[in-house]
Amino acid sequence: MENVTRLQRDILDRLTERDTSASVRWTDVRGIASALSGRLLPPDRVRERPEAVLDAFLDALGPLVGPENGAEVWRFVKASGAKDDRLRIRAMQMAKGLPIHCASLVLYADAERGVYRAQSGGYREVDVPPLEYRGRPVDVGQREQTLRRRLIRNLRADEAGAKFIDRKIETGFGDDRIAERNFPLNAPPVHWLYPQKDEFRHVLRLYAYQPTEWLGVNGETTKSIKMVDMVVDLLTGRTIHQGGPIGVWSDVTADGRSTLQQGGGYITRPLLAVREDMAERLLVNRTNTTDIFTHHAGGSDSGLETKLQNGTDLSTDTDGHWNDTTTSCTGTDREDSQQPETDAHFFAQEAYRYYDGLGWEGFDNGEWGTSACDVRVTAHIGIDDNAYFWRWVDGSGRHFGYLAFYDGECSGGSVAMDFMAGDPGIFAHEYQHAVTYFGSVDSAGDPGYLETGGWHRALHEGLSDSAAGLRTGQWTAPGLWPDGACRNDRPFRRIEYPRSTDTKSGSAYVDHYDDRVGAGAPYSNSTILSHALFLAGQGGVHERTSRPAELIPVPGAGNANIFAVMHDAVTDYFDSIPANSTGVQTMIEAANLILDAAEAAAGDTRSCEYDMLRRAFYAVGLFPFDSSFVKQSYGGEACMLPWTVAWKHSRPYLGFPAHWWRSPDLFVNNGSGVEYDADVGAENDLFARVRNIGDQDLTNVVVRFYFRAHGTALPPSSTAWKPCQDSTGTDCVLTIPTLAAGSMNIANPASPPASQAVKWFLPASEIVAGVDHFCLRAEIEVAGAANHDNDCPYRVQSNVSYTPLSLADGLGIRFIVANWEKESVPLDLEIDDRALPDGVRLHFEGPGDLKDRRLEPGEEVALHWKVEAPLRDADWFRPPFDGAVTGRIAGDLLNGAWFDAELSDVRTVRQVAPRRTVHVEGFLAGRLRRRDRKLQGRFEGELNTEDGTLTGVWVTVRHRARRRPKHVKLEIKAALRPTRAVHFTQRIRGEPVGGVTYTLRWPDRDRPS
Ligand SMILES: [Zn+2]
Repeated sequence: MENVTRLQRDILDRLTERDTSASVRWTDVRGIASALSGRLLPPDRVRERPEAVLDAFLDALGPLVGPENGAEVWRFVKASGAKDDRLRIRAMQMAKGLPIHCASLVLYADAERGVYRAQSGGYREVDVPPLEYRGRPVDVGQREQTLRRRLIRNLRADEAGAKFIDRKIETGFGDDRIAERNFPLNAPPVHWLYPQKDEFRHVLRLYAYQPTEWLGVNGETTKSIKMVDMVVDLLTGRTIHQGGPIGVWSDVTADGRSTLQQGGGYITRPLLAVREDMAERLLVNRTNTTDIFTHHAGGSDSGLETKLQNGTDLSTDTDGHWNDTTTSCTGTDREDSQQPETDAHFFAQEAYRYYDGLGWEGFDNGEWGTSACDVRVTAHIGIDDNAYFWRWVDGSGRHFGYLAFYDGECSGGSVAMDFMAGDPGIFAHEYQHAVTYFGSVDSAGDPGYLETGGWHRALHEGLSDSAAGLRTGQWTAPGLWPDGACRNDRPFRRIEYPRSTDTKSGSAYVDHYDDRVGAGAPYSNSTILSHALFLAGQGGVHERTSRPAELIPVPGAGNANIFAVMHDAVTDYFDSIPANSTGVQTMIEAANLILDAAEAAAGDTRSCEYDMLRRAFYAVGLFPFDSSFVKQSYGGEACMLPWTVAWKHSRPYLGFPAHWWRSPDLFVNNGSGVEYDADVGAENDLFARVRNIGDQDLTNVVVRFYFRAHGTALPPSSTAWKPCQDSTGTDCVLTIPTLAAGSMNIANPASPPASQAVKWFLPASEIVAGVDHFCLRAEIEVAGAANHDNDCPYRVQSNVSYTPLSLADGLGIRFIVANWEKESVPLDLEIDDRALPDGVRLHFEGPGDLKDRRLEPGEEVALHWKVEAPLRDADWFRPPFDGAVTGRIAGDLLNGAWFDAELSDVRTVRQVAPRRTVHVEGFLAGRLRRRDRKLQGRFEGELNTEDGTLTGVWVTVRHRARRRPKHVKLEIKAALRPTRAVHFTQRIRGEPVGGVTYTLRWPDRDRPS
């Protein structure tokens, strides 16, 4: 805190003396507190009128959030009690009678705590520049007239604009006399002060029909006539900001037939519609507080606002089955398909219910007018791989929103991208744009505070991608459905690993603040935010090849939990995000506000939601910062990689095998390499690879080890496990005296330092009911480390067993299923044997039957299975082909260098000659053995299915900060050893509680020379 006045200091001291739990987030550049929390005003003061509460707050604490004469400069805007009796009071800062853009003050209060939080986008000092241009006074009224004439000229100069004027005059303005008088504006412009860098400008804010160019998800620019919001410099006439539709990527889902298929047929979706005059049916859903309308735009988005405004061109069907489908790629055939209308209407209802569950109705929660605005969606706006959210504003200042979806894109006459409304993720993305638009409001209380360019746009897109991922569990945009949006193409973005260039455009996106690009590339920067929310919700491992720590594991706190936190932040807190001109500060403050929302939801900072968000924002460089937005130290934090299934979306990019229930950091090594099957009746060397992912050293990191018989549902608390002990009965405890920032205690698990081993004696008496394999758990404690002071456990497990491939035939599998709940539950066991080739069979051997089986509370049962694998050696090279690749690089570059990698997402094409060879394509990620350098990228080549020899070209990608990624083509000759494994996952009430993995280990042989 630097920029603090004596008065402010005194008030702060008094506040923190009175309330030791009070906290303040200062912003030096504005000389005010951007967030204050604590007992700011007692509960009895909150019973007064909202205006009086505001005055009382300004009397007591005003100088902390704005100028000293607070009562004179803050103008009451409105109060709302949106959720659970919570009161929000909003005010805007004025200077010389002019409202200041971004300068919102929001007070949060309830009956129990009084005013407990305040957020300010205000300024302590405001220099209002004189209303002069080149030394001469400026007449505002005259400037407004000049501006209107210029906007008409702009419109008429554009071919589509001229037609638009004629059509608009023909169709008229309905009852909107204000809009008619001010055309092409919807109402007279309003005079504001607008922050630009370090000063304020006189601006006119307005909405007007103008030709716009806007950036779509596909990265290309589209032109059309839209009602846009504009900020124009009043003195120079220069346009400071002009909005444009927020485009995305989208695709299909849809009683009617969906764009998506399942089991070879189109998914049938239930729809809610209305029937008109006992004749045709219309896609109108009237079961919610706000109606949902789905339109058919007839192949173009021109005049769309008028259609939506007047409710024309609704999607209709005579018998109520929207069953027309197409695979054709001519425009008219695609317009005739009812798939996108089906999907859009269905997804709108799903989205409505989801947000309703969080206390938010429709697009705007009914906050902008006498009633909520309708949810309007339209399909068939033309051929393109795009979609957008946009809105219109009427003369009285009411805002109406809509989502619009293109019919997809063709390539060489066939469908490259399917109907955009069909992709659940793209629809979810666009819907969130609407909620973000109405959820974050400007200092006058109007929606759309987050602008459609620069870092505000990066936030908009990051939130939309996050909402899509958190709601659907798909983290590519669009999702990689076999029949969905990207059916013959790559996704636009990979939020799970933004730096991947395996995208439609071949471009990488940013996943760290320090790698950020200019504000003009908002999609590129948006993934800094969305990737962090992916890590915190879904769970993943963040990789940083150029800065320590290299891998940062973030076990997810749950998609629904993180979504709720994000939604609270957007709809409650985002009104005081700094102005767009402050650039990246806006994203740092967004991260702070999301953390504030997580803290508010739990009441403290000890929850897994808070802690995973904090670690994720640190991983992407958005946290922590001081009051001048200078990066601060995070501290130390000791972690291990959890079982692989917890970061399954990161795995292919990092080069780890799909051994789902295994932690790569918890293993046995008795001198012959990494193992997971401990010797019974002997002492084993047990290892925990601990990573200090933080930026400060840690001391006295303690790891405790536990075991239990191999099982899918193991007790959550370690007290119900057995501690690993040595042969004298002493608990195994690893103490790491010092773990340097960014380092690990074990560099190479194949040859770990002896000092890091604990000696685990496994007595034969532990083998019960034939279960002779054991799950391992490690738990980390770091006393006194600030980042470890929370209620989220630092524990990992390895529930994996390995058997030589040669012993696969007749292999017996035995593990325990259990119920640790308080009531009886059905046994819900998912068996994933997709990694086994054709011919291998898995038999259930009892006891009893699996069907309709229940588990009583506390019940544990050992289940037996048998593998039958009547295969000869070469038969093991039948598909699938995802697996380990070991070999050498051929050709000029890196010639002869050995590497180890993992091939995933494999597609195969069988060739005619030579026999026993198939063409394979996939994603290959791994490391050069010598230099320990990471390599990743697409692979294409030939696989010999007699012996697994793999030859071909690996296009690896190198990232250099802030520069374009560099592609290097490497020829390789290698051996593929496909993953052969079977995974059992136990679910309770649909949620996985744990699982076990059985892996078949290939003999180490046949390395190509
Ligand atoms: Zn978007």
